Amino acid sequence: MSTTIIYPGSFDPVTFGHLDIIERASKNYDLVYVSVLDNNKKSPLFTVDERVKMLKDVTKDYDNVIVDTFRGLLIDYAKEKDVHMVLRGLRALTDFEYELHMAQTNYIISGGSLETVFLSTDLKYSYLSSTTVREIASFRGDVSSFVPENVARELYKKFGY
Ligand code: ADP
Repeated sequence: MSTTIIYPGSFDPVTFGHLDIIERASKNYDLVYVSVLDNNKKSPLFTVDERVKMLKDVTKDYDNVIVDTFRGLLIDYAKEKDVHMVLRGLRALTDFEYELHMAQTNYIISGGSLETVFLSTDLKYSYLSSTTVREIASFRGDVSSFVPENVARELYKKFGY
């Protein structure tokens, strides 16, 4: 049986924490959709196109990873792709409550057809979030241990450095 999974998120921007999850998913699933949520309500630093471009750059060596975008409900997107499994990364307890809530909601509103699986973060990335990275880069701090080089370049460009 071939297994496909969707890894949805904001990826604003992609960090080494996300990449670690993507790499591990690509080893365990036949096909991984890394799907950027196009959500007008949040005001992201990077446009969806910019986030997709950075994600494509950093995942180009994985042939079973597809970078995509979606709007609206995850369950509708998953149905359209005929995928029944969603992947999320778990860092700390703070992620847990929200993630559990989302997983249960998606399970219920999909009529029990959409499962969520979690990968626990590598310890060395457990503190890492896109928000922190944006904050550090905005003050021209060193983000080289948190994001790939091309992403760091785009961050500094965004903040006019
Ligand atoms: P969202 O706005 O959907 O939470 P994010 O881009 O912040 O989007 O995160 C997408 C997914 O990646 C979430 O499941 C999040 O928990 C996970 N994630 C984010 N940072 C890390 C990290 N450092 N290690 C592991 N998982 C992470």
